[in-house]
Amino acid sequence: MCKLSFIPELHLGAWRWKLRNMKLYLDMDDTLVDFVSQVTKYDFWRKDKENKVDWKKVKAMGPRFWSEMGWMPGAEEAFIKLQELESQKRLALYILSSIDFEDGRIGKTYWIKEKTNFSLEKVIFCLEPEDKAKWADKNSWLIDDRKKSLEPFASADGNIIEFTGNWKLIIKRIESLIRE
Ligand SMILES: [Mg+2]
Repeated sequence: MCKLSFIPELHLGAWRWKLRNMKLYLDMDDTLVDFVSQVTKYDFWRKDKENKVDWKKVKAMGPRFWSEMGWMPGAEEAFIKLQELESQKRLALYILSSIDFEDGRIGKTYWIKEKTNFSLEKVIFCLEPEDKAKWADKNSWLIDDRKKSLEPFASADGNIIEFTGNWKLIIKRIESLIRE
């Protein structure tokens, strides 16, 4: 009898501990920033293949391609809300973005400096989407639009939230997760 009532309590305790220590990692392209609209604006789509980016043209434009991007719909309000939750010590917030060339990192850094007051110490750049899994553990959550990032993160014991365009729903989910 004693064991039966004790075990669920232990589980609940572990779950609460996990949420109190939530580390939340945010993807940039097509989660926080509107990469697709930027590619469309400059017509940097490949002519020979559908829905493929012409990376030569992106790279030729330099950091400005990244620094002048707009927010994804609802992302700015959501980011402010997440920073508020962080200031209440309810979660720890990070930006985790994969980019494999220097101008991209420079442009993204510039965007963060221009559009947010977020500390650059909490911005992590990695080379490949799969590399995001290096930051996965049982207390970490990744919000990302790409399965290439999400699946390895989940396999490495991280928690994932697939971004499909609705920041309001995501904020509700985070708030319910951290509610005690
Ligand atoms: Mg993305």
